Amino acid sequence: MSDVLYFNGRFTTTDERVLGVEDRGFQFGDAIYEVFKFLGRRPAFLLDHYRRMNQGLGEIEIRNPWTEETFTATMRELLERTEFEDGIVYLQVTRGEAARNHFWPENLEPTVVAYSRRFAFPDVAKKERGIRVITTVDHRWNRCDVKSVNLLGNAIAKKEAQRAGADEAILLAGGFVREGASSSFFAVRNGSLITHSLDEHILPGVVRDRVIGLALGAKIRVDERPLREAELFDLDEAFITSTTQGVMPVTGIDGRVLRNNRRGELTGRLQQLFDQLELRS
Ligand code: PLP
Repeated sequence: MSDVLYFNGRFTTTDERVLGVEDRGFQFGDAIYEVFKFLGRRPAFLLDHYRRMNQGLGEIEIRNPWTEETFTATMRELLERTEFEDGIVYLQVTRGEAARNHFWPENLEPTVVAYSRRFAFPDVAKKERGIRVITTVDHRWNRCDVKSVNLLGNAIAKKEAQRAGADEAILLAGGFVREGASSSFFAVRNGSLITHSLDEHILPGVVRDRVIGLALGAKIRVDERPLREAELFDLDEAFITSTTQGVMPVTGIDGRVLRNNRRGELTGRLQQLFDQLELRS
């Protein structure tokens, strides 16, 4: 079955080849993307995703084709046309199509693409078992706060993790931990959470932000600071967060076993709180 595709103001399916080869998203990675989750055709944290996209588009001077209202209405229509209940929507706004040249023309019409996809979200067993990660060098560009489609550094790190039998790569730079190749990273030490502060080195994760809010609401201390690489050897618990994985325990780092290979208590608590919040969002 082909998926529903929204393309520049009309609905079609992913069977239709819609993009021109001189689209700047394709040739220059000149585009912003988002991924949100839906359950029972209801989008989770939709406006959080809209606001991050709006911020990213503004940073690289691409005109946002949507307002909050038109975005919400378009995404709801996409989900109504979708034939399954749970999944993700991938959406991308590129600067547009023009004869290839690094200098972009002013007033280009952005290209807009959004489609729904089935997704195998982690089940109860996986959420308890957790994942193993490796650490590797962060080779990405210096504006990781902008969710651009330049994901080569992320994809290479992810492949390295896969080849090492792990699920995620944790990116390091200058002796500090930044984030996962497609997730935010949290350490737990003495009952407190530690996660990288918001700056140009990490993506402002939607789930990261929600989990920090939940932790503070539960009187759990949160230190937003870069974790030293050496601190990875002395953690009580660790987890990653992302739209597709939610709160996912990390039970092994570079082949070392954490917490006897079990989900930590605080991680389990936050996982439960987050899952409840997501259903209500
Ligand atoms: N960091 C990176 C580099 C990512 O690619 C992602 C998600 O794809 C995240 C963090 C998590 O962000 P979110 O919680 O908004 O899904």
